[in-house]
Amino acid sequence: MSASRRRGIPFVVAAPSGTGKTTVCRAALERDSGLRFSISHTTRAPRDGERDGIDYHFVTAEEFRRGVEAGEFLEHAEYAGNVYGTSRRSLEEPLEQGYDLLVEIEIQGARQLRDRLSAARFLFLLPPSMKVLEERLRSRGTDSDDAVHRRLAVADRELEALAFFDYAVVNDDLEDTIEAVLQIIRAEREGRAAELVERYGRDAVRARWTARPEPGQA
Ligand code: 5GP
Repeated sequence: MSASRRRGIPFVVAAPSGTGKTTVCRAALERDSGLRFSISHTTRAPRDGERDGIDYHFVTAEEFRRGVEAGEFLEHAEYAGNVYGTSRRSLEEPLEQGYDLLVEIEIQGARQLRDRLSAARFLFLLPPSMKVLEERLRSRGTDSDDAVHRRLAVADRELEALAFFDYAVVNDDLEDTIEAVLQIIRAEREGRAAELVERYGRDAVRARWTARPEPGQA
């Protein structure tokens, strides 16, 4: 390995549940060969088609706890009854190899990384509106009415977390969102981040998003 190889940049991507974060991240990875995915550890059982060591490192609660005690995790958080965490190793290896890294995690974990990973950039995906988020959660058909309400209440709180992210992208149109995420990554890579402030800077996006009418309103 060349001693002068650049170190990659970690891009932490978070969003309220139902915003489409996983789809956006997968597509971004396919389109940018300089990008890798940070493989998290989780105590959740694998879903159909998920592979150990590729989608996640699937571990027992005991293994996870030992890892936490040994200081192996940069962040970890509980989500829907399971524990998830980013190990130092899964983050360090690709960065050292010069790859930029997508760290797709939930919001409490992103908050922990804000304090611990000064080189990282933080990207928040927003649903078009709370109303659209509700429609998306309902149309998945996997949650009861109660569960949808609980998720919406969580999403409401999660939106407050936007304050400590650098960038925000509103996921109105999947294709536009993927391209926006790639634009942000490329601009950061090339030291052109200042160009992004008006378009994707957190404050500018938040101001436009809050000023939007709900669908159906004039
Ligand atoms: P899922 O079970 O659907 O794969 O993931 C549930 C949530 O956990 C998602 O919001 C996902 O982004 C988040 N998540 C995945 N890996 C990690 C991680 O390493 N740390 C944290 N804090 N959240 C994670």
